Amino acid sequence: MKTIRILHMYSDMLDLYGDNGNIEVLRYRARARGVETVVEHHSVGTKDTDFSSYDLIYLGGGADYEQQLLAEDLQSCRNEIMKAYENGTFFLLICGGYQLMGEYYKDSNNEVIKGLGLFPYHTVASLNKGKRCIGNIIIEAELDGMISKIIGFENHGGQTSATDKAFGKVLFGNGNRFESEDEGYFDKNVIATYLHGPLLSKNPKLADYIIKYCSERDGGHIEMTPMDDALEEKAREVLFRRLLTRR
Ligand code: GLN
Repeated sequence: MKTIRILHMYSDMLDLYGDNGNIEVLRYRARARGVETVVEHHSVGTKDTDFSSYDLIYLGGGADYEQQLLAEDLQSCRNEIMKAYENGTFFLLICGGYQLMGEYYKDSNNEVIKGLGLFPYHTVASLNKGKRCIGNIIIEAELDGMISKIIGFENHGGQTSATDKAFGKVLFGNGNRFESEDEGYFDKNVIATYLHGPLLSKNPKLADYIIKYCSERDGGHIEMTPMDDALEEKAREVLFRRLLTRR
C-alpha cells in the first residue's frame, strides 16, 4: 500500500486557527483513496531529522513571539530542508510558516527574523500592532490547469513582497499585503499562503491536489476516487454568496 510520509514542523508552536487540522484532513482523504500516512514531528531541539525522507513538509502559522523562538532551530536545518525541496518534497506553508521560508521577516517589534531564503520574497510587519490584515479571504488559484476558488481566514501583520509567483488572485480580502491583488506563493512543489481555516477542510480539492502530488512523486499512479463533498460545497457556496456579492 502506498504511504505518504509527512513531517509536521513546530506543531507545538505554529497552530493558529486550527492549522494542525490540515494534517487530519490530509490523512482522512488519503485513507479514503487507500493511501496510508505517517506523520512525524520536528520541533525545537529535535535531532537528526531526515528531511529528504518525507513527501510533505508542513508548517502552520504563529505569533511573532513563536516565530522568534523557533527561528534559530529552523536555521540550523537550512541545508537539509533546502535539499528536501530540491528532491521534490512538497511544502505546504501557512502564514508564519510561509514568512519564515522567505528571505526575512521584520516583525512588529522591528526585529528581523532571518528566513531560510528558500524562496525570493520577504515580509515586513507594520509597527502599529493594530494594523493587520484580518478577515475572510477568497482567492482564485490554478490547480492542475483548473481554476478553483480557495477560501480561508487571514490574520497577519506581515506584508509580503517580491512573490514573483503568487498562489492566487484575491477576489475578497487582503492577500500578501493590504488590499493586494496577489496572495501567497506557488511553485511546482510549494504552496505558501496566508489562509488559515484550517485551509484544507474548506478546500477539499486543494487537499486532493497535495495528496496526488505526494503519492505520485515516485512515479506511481493513484486513483483519486471522488468523495462526497456535498456539505463542504454547500458551506463554500454560502460563503461565496455572502462575500462575493456584497461588493
Ligand atoms: N506573526 C505573523 C504576522 O503577524 C504571522 C501570523 C500568522 O501566522 N497568522 O504576520
